[in-house]
Amino acid sequence: MNNFSFDIVIVGRGFVGTALALLLRDLPLNIAILDRLPEFSNTSDFRSIVLSYGSYLILDRLGLGDFIKNHALPIHTIQVSDAGHFGMTHVSSVEEGVPALGYVIEGGVLQRGLETSLKTNSSLTFFYDSQIVSLIESEGGHQITIEHQGEYKILKTDLLVGADGTHSIIRKLKKVKTKEFDYEQTAIVSKIDLNRAHDFISYERFTSEGSIAFLPLSGLQSGLVWSAPSVLAAEILSLSDELFLQRLQKQFGYRLGKFRGVTQRITYPLKSSSACLQGGKAWILVGNAAHTLHPIAAQGFNLGLRDVTFLSEVISDSLGLNKKRYENDLIARYSAGREANQEKTQRFTHCLVSLFSQTYWPMKLARNGVSALIEYFPPLKHRIAKHGMGIS
Ligand SMILES: Cc1cc2nc3c(=O)[nH]c(=O)nc-3n(C[C@H](O)[C@H](O)[C@H](O)COP(=O)(O)OP(=O)(O)OC[C@H]3O[C@@H](n4cnc5c(N)ncnc54)[C@H](O)[C@@H]3O)c2cc1C
Repeated sequence: MNNFSFDIVIVGRGFVGTALALLLRDLPLNIAILDRLPEFSNTSDFRSIVLSYGSYLILDRLGLGDFIKNHALPIHTIQVSDAGHFGMTHVSSVEEGVPALGYVIEGGVLQRGLETSLKTNSSLTFFYDSQIVSLIESEGGHQITIEHQGEYKILKTDLLVGADGTHSIIRKLKKVKTKEFDYEQTAIVSKIDLNRAHDFISYERFTSEGSIAFLPLSGLQSGLVWSAPSVLAAEILSLSDELFLQRLQKQFGYRLGKFRGVTQRITYPLKSSSACLQGGKAWILVGNAAHTLHPIAAQGFNLGLRDVTFLSEVISDSLGLNKKRYENDLIARYSAGREANQEKTQRFTHCLVSLFSQTYWPMKLARNGVSALIEYFPPLKHRIAKHGMGIS
């Protein structure tokens, strides 16, 4: 059996694991990244992912600024509205003093950009198409046995990072419990052909049939994320393209003109989960393995990216301090630095879903009050906008 030793092993090369590897690539560390899937296999994800302005700044520092500008569309305005009510909240990049509130990029394109950058710029070791066979604690670190290219291999590591998504095997092997919340909603994701320009406006409309988000894409298209109660989503999904577009148009209205066509519709069940413990001696969980969010506020990856950016700083500092690197103080420092922002983002997302899923009239009244307060009280709007942009 082949043995390998690393300073850090990252399990999972989704958006968050890959971003962490990129953030660490210039440090004098021997890093491996492993995934159960072959390389470039996550690239067929055609969800429209919103990168906050703060995430854009981080990715720009990693050399991906031009890639994003070439493959993503900027959001200049966000319009939030509630069907059946006149109130509307607007946020604009001009008012907020930023070139864009965020950027919309196709998930597969983002993954390809991150992975290509990793392959071309770093001395990382890749174990793609690998199965984890066992995990044991050893000599202040961990020993992972994997099956890779038909062989068993032992990877010894000082720090183990679980970036392996919502159903994280690392979290399970470390026996960490999760707090879960099932929204009993399903997201229907697709692209809609428009007959007029979207003017770089992102729309979020709350309707009696769920929340409908339209995100600007190139070529007279907008990305759709329609989060509806699961029973209703199944019914909507069974409609022909023509009837689906009619239903969507009825709920959303004509702000984007008459819809001309719809691409394949993909669904995602919507649950949130949060690990009761995000790490311990020589191990840590990041991204969806640590916290999975409802997509209503487009914060999942943006939060994960802020987390791993801070983690890379803690790791870099601990190298400078030249002490045994991954003792408990690493996770303590990481938690102390990230806890408040994680909690705020999780709470903000959960409140938004709860407030806007209600059809009970006092709740509808309350949310119209909240919308009006935000619209007519600029300091509050500005604070919320900064939080959404990841630059608060
Ligand atoms: C409909 C929808 C829309 C969204 N829109 C946005 C948005 O606009 N903005 C935003 O910021 N976020 C958005 N999100 C959230 C975002 O997609 C996630 O937060 C993000 O993808 C999490 O990345 P991750 O790397 O932690 O996990 P994942 O992307 O799940 O990656 C996990 C990786 O681990 C690997 N893996 C899993 N198990 C194993 C194993 N046993 N062994 C080895 N490898 C393993 C997987 O193959 C995968 O490569 C959205 C989510 C949904 C559902």
